[in-house]
Amino acid sequence: MFSLQEKYHRFRQWQRQPFEYHDSHDHHGCCNCGAESENNYCPRCGQKAAYGPITWHSVWQGIMDVWGVGTRSLPYTLWQLLWRPGYLIRDYISGKRQVSFPPVKMLVVMAVLVVLVYGLLGIGFEAEVENESGNNAVQGFLMGDFYDWMSNHIEWAVLAGFSMFIVPVWFLFRTAPRLPRHTLPQGFFIQVFVGVQFLLYMLIVTLVFDLIPSLSGSGDEAAGFMVMLVLPLMLWCDYKQLFGYGWWGTLWRIVASVFLAIAVTKVLVRVGGLCYCLFVGDRSLGFNYLVGTVDHSALLWVLLEVVLLINAKPWRGNIAWPRILLRPLIAVATLLLTTAACGQFGIENSVSNMIKSMQTMFLP
Ligand SMILES: [Zn+2]
Repeated sequence: MFSLQEKYHRFRQWQRQPFEYHDSHDHHGCCNCGAESENNYCPRCGQKAAYGPITWHSVWQGIMDVWGVGTRSLPYTLWQLLWRPGYLIRDYISGKRQVSFPPVKMLVVMAVLVVLVYGLLGIGFEAEVENESGNNAVQGFLMGDFYDWMSNHIEWAVLAGFSMFIVPVWFLFRTAPRLPRHTLPQGFFIQVFVGVQFLLYMLIVTLVFDLIPSLSGSGDEAAGFMVMLVLPLMLWCDYKQLFGYGWWGTLWRIVASVFLAIAVTKVLVRVGGLCYCLFVGDRSLGFNYLVGTVDHSALLWVLLEVVLLINAKPWRGNIAWPRILLRPLIAVATLLLTTAACGQFGIENSVSNMIKSMQTMFLP
């Protein structure tokens, strides 16, 4: 029997390095092209040496192939996403493609599974939409056609949602100890994995809420529990394992990335609105979206400056305060100006808009 400590030690070892690869060292002829070799794969045609003539085992393998094989199987990848998510993501994006089921495919499969389970349990999707005062053509589109399309294609909705984190996470974690200078394409795959994990936990949470009678009722409660508790904890573990900052260093960066991602989304929505207005030639609405875009960009700039300021660690002595505060102060002044402009033209300003979003997200 292993002691608990030893079990934990083995678990940690598995988390960091779960895979071992061996050479076959058997002399064999390839079943496909006949070339002789001692490798795991045929050096001439690339067929796996383990594939012998068709047997009952091949039937089993052929069926299981739907879910991937070996270390690349879907169940094993999901298992890894539960117990070593950050390590798995780092393995994959640092070039170890053989450790995971193809991530985008996995996202689509998980979305199909979630829709299936929700259908069986009779739960509808009630995601929250940004509900802004007033209603114009752009908002009508966002809450109408676009919203309908998104709720029917949750894999792309999840991907689009988490894609908003690609640039903020790159910005916040680009000097991380374990993964310095990660690129934006790598950031894309990070978010695909996080999206898969999100759907996986959503499934588990929904099933738990459905099975425990006192908790069941509506899918809304499960969704609320998911966003409030599971998602933050999940991201905290992911990013700690993936980037190697400590608990606090990871936590403040996640909180900052949420703010940045929301700000980025808001800027994008306004740029989209502006493009729409230019397209249909609606000048007055276009002007509102132009002011909104500038105002929200100013808010994004202020948030970025705050992050840079925290990153510079000014509380650690010898800092030239006037120099380090100059740019943040210019950003704040710009935001004050754009806020005043919004007030002048009767447009909701970015600060109160952000506070409202926070309230709808974090207050019941
Ligand atoms: Zn061959």
